[in-house]
Amino acid sequence: MEKEKKNISKLALPCPHAKKCGGCQLQNMDYPQQLAWKENRVRRLIGRFGPVRPIVGMESPYHYRNKVQAAFGLDGRRRIISGVYQSASHRIVPVDSCMIEDETADKIIVTIRGMMPSFHMLAYDERTGTGFLRHVLVKRGFTTGQVMVVLVAASPIFKLQKPFVKKLLELHPEITTIVLNINDKFTPLVLGQREKILYGKGYIEDVLCGKTFRISPRSFYQINPVQTEVLYSTAIGMAGLTGRETVLDAYCGTGTIALIASGQAKQVLGVELNRDAVRDAIANARQNGVTNCWFTAADAGEYMEDMAAHHDRPDVVFMDPPRAGSDEKFLRSLLRLSPPKVIYISCNPETLARDLEILQSGGYKLEAAQPVDMFPWTSHCETVVQLSKGEITSRKVRVEFSLEDMDMSGTEK
Ligand code: SAH
Repeated sequence: MEKEKKNISKLALPCPHAKKCGGCQLQNMDYPQQLAWKENRVRRLIGRFGPVRPIVGMESPYHYRNKVQAAFGLDGRRRIISGVYQSASHRIVPVDSCMIEDETADKIIVTIRGMMPSFHMLAYDERTGTGFLRHVLVKRGFTTGQVMVVLVAASPIFKLQKPFVKKLLELHPEITTIVLNINDKFTPLVLGQREKILYGKGYIEDVLCGKTFRISPRSFYQINPVQTEVLYSTAIGMAGLTGRETVLDAYCGTGTIALIASGQAKQVLGVELNRDAVRDAIANARQNGVTNCWFTAADAGEYMEDMAAHHDRPDVVFMDPPRAGSDEKFLRSLLRLSPPKVIYISCNPETLARDLEILQSGGYKLEAAQPVDMFPWTSHCETVVQLSKGEITSRKVRVEFSLEDMDMSGTEK
């Protein structure tokens, strides 16, 4: 009976690797069911703050991931395998093609695995710390078609580098750049700090909402470009910009939202913790000929504290924090800064609900929430929320006081 059940569910799942891989939690639902599930989740968590619009799904929810990462290793018979780490363990599940990953990227990874024996390239063996190739990371610009291959190796000594690169380019002329990344540490992180460009410019570019963005091996870029356009246009549309506003893009990454909004605002300030991302943001501004954006590498909360101290009040704040949501420092300084409009882009409705509680007590009203499906087949759900400041200054004191006692578990104190 147990066996039968297993077989049935195996047949029913669209991906043959689903059970072992665990990356797509909603494999047991068809796409309309997934959308309904996500929309309900957002309604359940966010509905009490204000109106939730119907979720925007994808027309074709397949092969949307523009960034594909494969781990390389050896199986029990010491044959080279490549695939994904099983979510419950650290074992590699061999995967050659995945229903959500870019198909070109998957093909390049299989080609590299096939080339390895003839180039005497060894896969890295985690148990002994020997071997060479640990991961292959492929990023593709969906609009430009540019392809970057990052070979993550345990050592900088790449013996047959030139003929290997030549052969790979022969087999995949669509590749525009190849980078060797050296990761010689015992770490779960895929990429190491050192890099060497083996071919091309060392980065690719993609176009999003009419602006060009540079994507380097380590910089953050949304992984579903089709839905990112939906997400960003929704967010910028909610801000109702007229060209006269000062906008703050908090957690700005490589400046995507700031640069896309720049044409509709007087000026945009971007703040981001990661220095590499800020460097990319400045390069992106230059590349697009944008002259009304300024980027700063800093903690977003501290930056806003400074703004508040100098009585610089932006008209709109976009905030796009990581999955853990915002933190107490940020929310406290946002309430102090008190911009008339806040557009919160969230990739986790649980932390969004927690943060909304605080913003609502601080006098913000949820005008609209728009769920956008950025990650079909997985349980992740993105939501854009439009908040505006009502005339409730009298409640501000009480709020700032209650923030001190707030349970901000999961955030930095
Ligand atoms: N808005 C960007 C990036 C969003 S990802 C985009 O859509 O591409 C979230 C970003 O927040 C990351 O780049 C991360 O480095 C940054 N971040 C995390 N904590 C931060 C903090 N305390 N202050 C400023 N930026 C932070």
